Amino acid sequence: MSQSAANPDAKPAANPSQQLPKAYEFREVEDRWYRNWLEHKNFRATMDESRPSFSIVIPPPNVTGVLHVGHALNNTLQDILVRYRRMQGYNVLWLPGTDHAGIATQNVVERQLAAKGVSRQEMGRDKFIERVWQWKEESGGQIINQLKRLGCSCDWDRERFTMDEGLSKAVRAVFVRLYKEGLIYRGNYIINWCPRCHTALADVEVEHEETAGALYHIRYPLADGSGHLVVATTRPETMLGDTAVAVHPGDERYRDLKEAAVILPLVNRKIPIVYDTHVEKDFGSGALKVTPAHDLNDFEIGRRHELPVLKVMDDHGVMNEEAGAYAGLDRFACRKKIVADLEAAGLLEKIEDYQHGVGQCYRCQTVVEPALSRQWFVAVKPLAARATSAVREGEINLLPKMWHNTFYEWMDNIRDWCISRQIWWGHRIPAWTCESCGELIVEESDPDLCPQCNSDNLRQEDDVLDTWFSSALWPFSTLGWPEQTKELQMFYPTSVLITSFDILFFWVARMMMMGLHFMDQVPFRDVYLHALVRDKHGKKMSKSKGNVLDPLELMDKYGTDALRFTMAAFAAQGRDIKLAEERIEGYRHFINKLWNAARFTLMQISDHQEPHLAAPGDRLSREQSPAQVNEVASPTDELSLPHRWILSRAGKVADEVSRALDDYRFNDAANVAYQFVWKEFCDWYLEWIKPELYGDDQAVKAHSRAVLLRVLEDILKILHPMIPFVTEEIWHALPGARSSIMVEPFPVADPARQDDAAEAQAELLMEVVGGIRNIRSTYLLHPSATIKVGIICTEANRVATLQELAGAIKGLTRSDSLEIITQGRRPEGTATHILPELEIFVPLAGLVNVAAECAKLDKEEKKLNQELQRIQGKLGNEKFMAKAPPEVVAKEQAKEAELLATLNTIRENRRRLQAIG
Ligand SMILES: [Zn+2]
Ligand SMILES: [Zn+2]
Repeated sequence: MSQSAANPDAKPAANPSQQLPKAYEFREVEDRWYRNWLEHKNFRATMDESRPSFSIVIPPPNVTGVLHVGHALNNTLQDILVRYRRMQGYNVLWLPGTDHAGIATQNVVERQLAAKGVSRQEMGRDKFIERVWQWKEESGGQIINQLKRLGCSCDWDRERFTMDEGLSKAVRAVFVRLYKEGLIYRGNYIINWCPRCHTALADVEVEHEETAGALYHIRYPLADGSGHLVVATTRPETMLGDTAVAVHPGDERYRDLKEAAVILPLVNRKIPIVYDTHVEKDFGSGALKVTPAHDLNDFEIGRRHELPVLKVMDDHGVMNEEAGAYAGLDRFACRKKIVADLEAAGLLEKIEDYQHGVGQCYRCQTVVEPALSRQWFVAVKPLAARATSAVREGEINLLPKMWHNTFYEWMDNIRDWCISRQIWWGHRIPAWTCESCGELIVEESDPDLCPQCNSDNLRQEDDVLDTWFSSALWPFSTLGWPEQTKELQMFYPTSVLITSFDILFFWVARMMMMGLHFMDQVPFRDVYLHALVRDKHGKKMSKSKGNVLDPLELMDKYGTDALRFTMAAFAAQGRDIKLAEERIEGYRHFINKLWNAARFTLMQISDHQEPHLAAPGDRLSREQSPAQVNEVASPTDELSLPHRWILSRAGKVADEVSRALDDYRFNDAANVAYQFVWKEFCDWYLEWIKPELYGDDQAVKAHSRAVLLRVLEDILKILHPMIPFVTEEIWHALPGARSSIMVEPFPVADPARQDDAAEAQAELLMEVVGGIRNIRSTYLLHPSATIKVGIICTEANRVATLQELAGAIKGLTRSDSLEIITQGRRPEGTATHILPELEIFVPLAGLVNVAAECAKLDKEEKKLNQELQRIQGKLGNEKFMAKAPPEVVAKEQAKEAELLATLNTIRENRRRLQAIG
């Protein structure tokens, strides 16, 4: 490793030809450069107002988190953008941090305690929370180091935590203000309750699992003995809490039932029949049992008709004393018993198979119970309306656009947000009840006395806030709000939010609501929602399926740059990412290709004998380097075609990559850069200029080297945001004392270098050379055989161009003569390749020994035929076919197909050879 690469501030190495080792050793390089960037504070946002700001807040990973492929994608995309904007001269802030992740973190610590036989209840609230903080200090936040490993250029000095002092202050300020504005209230409501986690869940925390269940049709006898109504339910145990039966007022079947009542089976309670337009006439018999304490719709019907609310189940999902004879039974056991009892009483009309979505807790998959409880809510409707119009009016640019309708629909039907959680780890609700007079006190700082009666007997709410409450404030709380800080002024609204679509409602929508309400400005201008990373077959990765790809292992195996480039190349808007390990391996080849191109370039530059480079160690300074290139190769200079072409293309590619990154088309940025580097720069340009580099003309050599170096520099800069490590390493091996490539300007096309004529000529060259190479491979010409080429072309301009290109065409195809014919036809005994308005031909006489080549083909054909017979014998064998596993049969069939195709090619080649003959 050269000294200059190991330490950019050290004296440059004396012998530039040894600057890059043969193989790219990513492990050592990644670690060294990351430390270097940190030491030089390259990730730091400044308070420099002279430059435009660009800011991103990280979607804070859970403090319990371990880097998974979703994080790898999400953070690679953010890092690409911030590196790109830094190079464009923006004052960039990428603000990192972690989320306290209420339930998840509490579960981790509870599990640790359980292993020692201690419960949190035994420990008590204060001790338990102390224990969680201790866990957080010791083992929380390992994901931060993993993000560093990924190359993330976050401003780590500004790292935040959703429960740090400042953010906790912001949480209280928001809670109190919303409460005083009447937008936070406490009330009875049907919430989603997890009987295992013992907490309320937000609607979005409930996963609906399609389940094969049953629909029970139950007879409710009319009180006057004149018959019965049939109600249908999937949860018969809740009938114990029924307080009415509802029918639609327009339902002809029930129009005579005004003032009527039914007798609730098994408990023999008389309950009324009510008319409500909410009832679906077409569902079952059109009669609906109403259980206000255990179903949201029923709760609302109950409110409209002032029905009693009867809770028959406790917090554990066990029937309570209101359930009478069923008290003490688990809800599912109760269901069984009720069904049996109804059947015995002749009140069960029928049981139908019924496929329906059953709500499950997203943490533990326990079936969620809709339950009546006293909770805290945010009245989100007014907040949501503002957020929706910000998207509708384009103040927030939500990408991809396919999410708009889902977003509007969800926001337009949004229900109040239940924000209280019955756990200990989190922001405890800043509300106190006076035990003396019952006054409810909601304040930012802990009150000492009741303002009503001066009692000091105050009790704080036990519940904490939903984790998403604090993360909803993330874009402004992390910048110092409620203080009016300079950071807020400079970096709010943030420029863009990059996140996964699955937290659009959990998080993104709520940040919009809170940001608009408290800052009076959108929290971000753009939102880019990326897809989920799935396995190569499109299946969700899960531990149970064993198809999880671990980004840390992938980085160990292929290097961070290869993983990052893959993520970028896959990130097409609106498409799921099917991650195959082979692709990462493929992009590692790309990185090696770039490395080898750089080594080639350095070898050319190292035997540079220009006077100003002659003295050992006296290399060009960075300031001199581009100037020197321009001096040697200024636009007015008569550069040869390959240089004019590659400079023109490099400019276009820089602009295309810029446009793609501006539009969040990461995959286009990656692919454009990839194609340019691999095909145009490595495969064509480097080959094309070899005669100049190896020739004797010193002036031509100097031009070539200067342009080669210049284009390589541009390539490194274009690729840096995507593959930061290898580009930085190569950058420092190039001549001149160099600062980090991170602070270089991102390339833009120089109009003086745009040369459409050169591009058209190079296109023609590539087509013609491609055509000649095609002939060589079709007729199996030996790679070292020299050939003669003829081109028939009648178009005068092209003829002139071809004459100019003749030398290059010959050099790139091992041809010792090139004849351009404007009239006439292709001679006999020649092979041909036809292009638009061009016909290429190569005389084959003397090049091909037809008899010998045919004999080779015959031999090959014989061998393959034997193999084919063997396989066909197997496939025709009934015993084999009956016994062999299907994958073995499929393998043999694939071999057969492959052999048949190869044999076809052999026959075709022989036919061509014989035609020359
Ligand atoms: Zn649960
Ligand atoms: Zn009081």
